[in-house]
Amino acid sequence: MADPKGFLNHGREVAKTRPVEERVKDWNEVYVAGSLLPIISKQASRCMDCGIPFCHNGCPLGNLIPEWNDYAYRENWAAASERLHATNNFPEFTGRLCPAPCESACVLGINQPAVTIKNVEVSIIDKAWETGDVAPQAPERLSGKTVAVIGSGPAGLAAAQQLTRAGHTVAVYERADRIGGLLRYGIPEFKMEKRHINRRIEQMRAEGTRFRTGVEIGRDLKATDLKKRYDAIVIAAGATTARDLPVPGRELKGIYQAMEYLPLANKVQEGDYVSPPISAEGKHVVVIGGGDTGADCVGTAHRQGAASVTQLEIMPRPGDERNAAQPWPTFPMLYKVTSAHEEGGERIYSVSTTHFEGDEDGNVQWLHLVEVEFVEGKLTQKPGTERKIPAQLVTLAMGFTGTDRENGLVDQFGLELDERGNIARDADFQTNVPGVFVAGDAGRGQSLIVWAIAEGRSAARGVDRFLTGASDLPAPIRPTDRALMV
Ligand SMILES: Cc1cc2nc3c(=O)[nH]c(=O)nc-3n(C[C@H](O)[C@H](O)[C@H](O)COP(=O)(O)OP(=O)(O)OC[C@H]3O[C@@H](n4cnc5c(N)ncnc54)[C@H](O)[C@@H]3O)c2cc1C
Ligand code: SF4
Repeated sequence: MADPKGFLNHGREVAKTRPVEERVKDWNEVYVAGSLLPIISKQASRCMDCGIPFCHNGCPLGNLIPEWNDYAYRENWAAASERLHATNNFPEFTGRLCPAPCESACVLGINQPAVTIKNVEVSIIDKAWETGDVAPQAPERLSGKTVAVIGSGPAGLAAAQQLTRAGHTVAVYERADRIGGLLRYGIPEFKMEKRHINRRIEQMRAEGTRFRTGVEIGRDLKATDLKKRYDAIVIAAGATTARDLPVPGRELKGIYQAMEYLPLANKVQEGDYVSPPISAEGKHVVVIGGGDTGADCVGTAHRQGAASVTQLEIMPRPGDERNAAQPWPTFPMLYKVTSAHEEGGERIYSVSTTHFEGDEDGNVQWLHLVEVEFVEGKLTQKPGTERKIPAQLVTLAMGFTGTDRENGLVDQFGLELDERGNIARDADFQTNVPGVFVAGDAGRGQSLIVWAIAEGRSAARGVDRFLTGASDLPAPIRPTDRALMV
């Protein structure tokens, strides 16, 4: 145990963020560099090394949290990093981006602020990179078997790294021009700088994983041809089909899907454009959808110099505290103030968009909305509450409906879908086609990075078993798992 009195002697302290007026002028991560390390040992000492560590259950990866808290408390960073990597290929991604269901499940959280597990995680991994403790782990022997991974998001990368280390020859196919999936082209720099992905790709290359960008399986290369070339395939193509808003005026110029808008801002940071082809500069921006994707649009619009930013959500404002229906240790739906919300803008809850209004050139100018409420369990418009707000750039961030059906990948393989429209799989993550596996959002539906990594690791075990008859690789989850309701 770290320190028997740690939680009595120290309160919870989290990473400091840079002043708003400073950070909205750049795209760097919002945290004060180096602010964590001086406090992290004390924070780790708050861990009680519980007999039943509920934090394990909260985490889809089954992270060995009390073990690395203990090492972090003792400042044994190399041992802490080894424990961290025992269950997670990419702790620098989750340590920055995860909503931390482990903290919602932390036993200390019953009557005190939870251990700051996520900050401890990111401190350990950042230190490990700094000290050179993260080295390539090339396999000692090659199996002679080949695997193609389709998609280079966190699920594809985790599966590829596990399978490469198990000795298989792995090639990752990615339709985009760079590796990383939503980590690269959805999540903005201010949440995670892309140098973290680049560093991992270098590690994976050194281990033997091969990467092919700009190849869309189904369009550029037929799925059936890919299947002939490889002994096994992992589909980690994400759930990239965005939900639309079919209301009058949707066809006006200036209304985009969030994933049409956000990647262009990321591409400016990559040096592909001097200024973004779609910009919020000087415009009244409305973001439809109150989730994380919406928050990323809000933070991006601030940095591009929007005249105003308004985020709309159809559901009522969540509460500030857990309610009876969301007791510890479940992951509660609480009112969240992300770094983007700290930076300004307005959030309007319980409203629905009725239509858009444009100018004579067909550019959107106004968004008409109406308040809604639940009546007999159904969202119903409140008469007399219609109004319009200025909207010169609108982004739709209303979730995703499943994997891409347009490129032919699903049909060419002959894949069955489940009742939610995701690619169906068995307990080994294998689809109805022998030798073809699925991991991440493509099989689970739009989810979280931590789930994608857990799925990638688990599917890798399924593939390894398929290729060799047995596997020592870990499988943290089954396809049907829903850890503590996240
Ligand atoms: C804007 C945004 C912000 C988010 N923020 C967070 C966050 O802060 N924290 C969090 O935990 N989760 C977040 N999420 C969710 C998280 O990013 C996803 O759950 C996760 O990335 C899913 O990983 P994946 O590997 O399954 O798929 P993806 O990351 O979607 O990667 C799939 C990849 O497959 C490629 N691909 C698709 N079809 C083909 C094909 N036929 N051939 C070749 N390549 C193909 C795609 O181009 C893509 O690169 C966010 C999502 C969005 C949209
Ligand atoms: S539940 Fe919280 S206090 Fe208990 S072991 Fe996990 S992190 Fe430590």
